[in-house]
Amino acid sequence: MPSGPGEPQIELTGVRKVFGDSIVAVAGADLTVDDGELFAILGPSGSGKTTVLRMIAGFEQPTAGTIKLGGVDVTALPARRRDVNTVFQEYALFPHMTVAQNVEYGMRVRGVPKGERRSRAAEALEMVRLADYGPRKPAQLSGGQRQRVALARALVGRPKVLLLDEPLGALDLKLREQMQVELKAIQREVGITFVIVTHDQDEALTLCDRLAVFNDGRIEQIGKARDVYENPVNRFVADFVGTSNVLDGDAAEALVGRRGLFAVRPERIAVLPTGAPPAPGSRTVDATVAEVIYAGPTTRVAAVAQVGGQPGVTLTATVLNAAASLPEDLGHGTQITLAWADGAVHDLST
Ligand code: ADP
Ligand code: MG
Repeated sequence: MPSGPGEPQIELTGVRKVFGDSIVAVAGADLTVDDGELFAILGPSGSGKTTVLRMIAGFEQPTAGTIKLGGVDVTALPARRRDVNTVFQEYALFPHMTVAQNVEYGMRVRGVPKGERRSRAAEALEMVRLADYGPRKPAQLSGGQRQRVALARALVGRPKVLLLDEPLGALDLKLREQMQVELKAIQREVGITFVIVTHDQDEALTLCDRLAVFNDGRIEQIGKARDVYENPVNRFVADFVGTSNVLDGDAAEALVGRRGLFAVRPERIAVLPTGAPPAPGSRTVDATVAEVIYAGPTTRVAAVAQVGGQPGVTLTATVLNAAASLPEDLGHGTQITLAWADGAVHDLST
């Protein structure tokens, strides 16, 4: 039965992949991606992202578990019988063919008649905003345009699912950020389910509806970008998705008021003149500035708080420069007070 919007398009249940007899690339993944969703798989290098994608595509067979696409168990189906297409980081375009020929290539191999090939390639190039570029050769395009040709080539067969493995990895930062916005817009227009793999947390948060955070072959957390960022479930997620001040032991006791493992985002910490009293529902600690890093829109202040006779806990605060709220003449050695609301503290130990 075909799936519709909001219904599961991809379902992984207990999916494991062991290479050889001891390399556990994926240690049991349970994951559901809805129809029409833009889903990100985020994790450090070697965490099993590509292996998961290759199993969804059918290039790799799971050691255990099942994979369903559109409600149908495809675990035993070869790649060519799955309604899935993949864009790899090394998207090789044929250099001697024009852009249009590159996009038409797959259809030509499958024997799609010329007229239909032409019109579908034109439509796909339109989708990626390269309508006028059909006659050009890849060498006459920028990196971002070549990437969009690769995307058009993958979209032209109108797959139910498009898998993208670090698709923007070869682009420089500025272009990458631009392409992130475009990818999202294109996905929204075509309505195809996208699963995008990235090791870049900004990219994942910018692009996706929901994401899964992978670590060492395991899924640490699945959720909406905002939920994962605002409510990381453990230390790994708190550190990998954004940056966090992680507090445990005596530091937790002194700064949170109880033992455990806690995280506070740097943008939730205010930098105040020394001696500022805590507002209701918030906490303060006196600290000595270690470093002030100006970063254009924000300034990062690292400061050492003296707690419980310890050598000192370094806390990082990120302050918006437009708010102009920093005490004047802030520099190494300045005495300040750091403040945060009780609600900014995430308990990672539960
Ligand atoms: P990622 O894409 O997150 O960087 P991969 O899925 O490529 O991670 O790899 C996960 C783990 O599996 C790594 O330790 C990697 O070395 C191992 N691995 C991946 N493919 C193979 C393979 N074909 N043979 C043996 N080990 C592999
Ligand atoms: Mg990879």
